[in-house]
Amino acid sequence: MLGKIADAVRSAKTLLLVSHVRPDGDALGSSVAFYHALKSLGKEVVVFNQDKIPDMYRFLPGSEAVVHTLGPVERFDTALLLDCSELSRVGDEADRIASIGTLIAIDHHLSNDGTIPLSLVDTKASSTGEILVDLIDKLGVELTRDIAVNIYTAVVTDTGSFRYSNTTRKTFMLAARLVEAGADPRVVSEQVYETKPLVRLRLMSRAIETLNISRGGEVGSIVLDRRSMKQEDALPEHTEGLVDMVRSVQGVRVAVFYYEMPDGTYKISLRSKGNANVEQVAKTFGGGGHRNASACRMQGNIKDVQEQILAAVDVILRETE
Ligand code: 5GP
Ligand code: MN
Repeated sequence: MLGKIADAVRSAKTLLLVSHVRPDGDALGSSVAFYHALKSLGKEVVVFNQDKIPDMYRFLPGSEAVVHTLGPVERFDTALLLDCSELSRVGDEADRIASIGTLIAIDHHLSNDGTIPLSLVDTKASSTGEILVDLIDKLGVELTRDIAVNIYTAVVTDTGSFRYSNTTRKTFMLAARLVEAGADPRVVSEQVYETKPLVRLRLMSRAIETLNISRGGEVGSIVLDRRSMKQEDALPEHTEGLVDMVRSVQGVRVAVFYYEMPDGTYKISLRSKGNANVEQVAKTFGGGGHRNASACRMQGNIKDVQEQILAAVDVILRETE
């Protein structure tokens, strides 16, 4: 598949790079890294994401090239989906993007509807960035500093700074190569983890006040409603990572974060330790992700949503007891 995708990229003239809504470090790092790679091959490239770039990722070299309005799609002969392999994940422009002649997906999520024939999905890879380096090598593109910083950020954010089970020998070998190519671990960590606005700490405090522990300490959950978000003048990006605080508690096997979005629907982020597969929970409600990190969206009042999620969590916890 890698060879086929490399051939398709080589013969492409005008490419669209697109990733999932509410992009994270891997979505943005991969997209912008591949933007640089394709530019060096003399291609016409547009990087599109429906949502704005969170402030913490604005340091990524080349991130200013990302556009949020797609424009006519007829000019593209090829579209690459990065860090997602289901068209619906790209947001409102999914149908128009689906009409582009050649579709390619590079991804590491478990959820994959198989509708894109040219899909390179490696669920064992730490990040989409890690898979992308294989493609960059195959294309004979030099790993420049700009590419390295973007990929390093993708790897660091998706592995929780080399802590999660997706961190392998290959990940560390890649990290060494990226550092050699000019990525500075301190600079990336500082940008990603130590430039948070104060409002995030306030949200954390609000979220902790809602902490609920159930199933004898195995399940922990927090809630943030629209009112709190508004009162703190917080943005959706400020909620990123809050669920990890819950997973950090001894004995907690599944952590849940119920986030009420501006339109009143809930986004539910799930995290787990060990074998507990929260992708299965998210999939039940139309979402997806990985074994230890997944998410879905649900409508209804918070009590009903919590009840349904906890029932589904109970099922997977029974399976891995
Ligand atoms: P987060 O809670 O950080 O937003 O998402 C956790 C994981 O689930 C990420 O890997 C993310 O890409 C994935 N994810 C989040 N929302 C969805 C969704 O609606 N559908 C699918 N398939 N995956 C999702
Ligand atoms: Mn990813």
